[in-house]
Amino acid sequence: MFALQKYAVGEGNVRLTEVERPKPGSKDALIKVKACGICGTDIHIYKDDAFPFKPPVILGHEASGVIEELGADVDGLSIGDPVISETYYYTCGECVYCKTGRANLCEARYSIGSGADGAMAEYVKVPAKNLHLIPKNISFVEAALTEPLTCCVHAVFEKATLKPSDTVLLSGPGAIGLLCLQVVKLFGCRVVVTGTKKDEERLEIARELGADLTLYAEDSDTLRRVREFHGGPATAFECSGAVPATEFCLETLPKGGRYVQIGLPAAPTPVDLNSVALKELTITGAFATKPIWWLKTIDLMSEGKINLKRAITDIYKLSDWEKGFQDHISGKGVKHVFDIELGL
Ligand SMILES: [Zn+2]
Ligand SMILES: [Zn+2]
Repeated sequence: MFALQKYAVGEGNVRLTEVERPKPGSKDALIKVKACGICGTDIHIYKDDAFPFKPPVILGHEASGVIEELGADVDGLSIGDPVISETYYYTCGECVYCKTGRANLCEARYSIGSGADGAMAEYVKVPAKNLHLIPKNISFVEAALTEPLTCCVHAVFEKATLKPSDTVLLSGPGAIGLLCLQVVKLFGCRVVVTGTKKDEERLEIARELGADLTLYAEDSDTLRRVREFHGGPATAFECSGAVPATEFCLETLPKGGRYVQIGLPAAPTPVDLNSVALKELTITGAFATKPIWWLKTIDLMSEGKINLKRAITDIYKLSDWEKGFQDHISGKGVKHVFDIELGL
């Protein structure tokens, strides 16, 4: 089968290659992949700058497809079922994090696309317990956004305490930002989205998806305008990972505000702890997701509460992976997805 493989450590070292089709174990499923999203994690592995991985490894964890084969000990699923897969290939089940439902923090955890072969390929092997049926109203390409949406649901539902009267600041209108925006809007909050001048198209989509105000981070009056917008933000979600964005969010937050880091900063970020103390700010982070949020996310998708389609701007054949990766890196478009059914 064909597969997009990171074959060695170091920058680049990714190739489209022919590999053996995986054989499912007794508790596994073999998925014929239909679509796979390009995530920031794939780009970090491509650049080898922040995220651990075990080469050679097939990239991609935002997968949808149909069941091609099932192990002998798998119940409740059938060949041909349309499915999405949770990404954790292995968690220990024994540590304090696993035992308290926080498998995202398990030290032994590894995932498809980094620690085990992923879904930028014709087939991917996953533990059958990780699979969920795709709601009927959701296409395979849209379903590839389930995993990033689960991360946003985790961040917004668990790491914040939103009230309908709140104003929320969301920095970074990429795929995660635009999905978080929609999850925040479920709480009835007003949302201000900030981006840079090159985010013009993304900010327009943010307005279509319910942003009440969009502003450019470079403009000199942006800080004042965010602070004055309905009393300023009670919570800021930083989705870009950009160092200046963190400073901006913390400076904007009024007393008692909450800051949630979602984007992974590529560089150490200075934080003015003096103002954190004086303003009694709460700073927290959200990393990946927990199994429980998959169910909630799929409910939201099947109820039509999240517009996944509008966040997908570019669809590629897997053989055009270099263009897809470069578009992601340059910030062109929002969500980039491989449609594996298009073939090579
Ligand atoms: Zn992802
Ligand atoms: Zn564990």
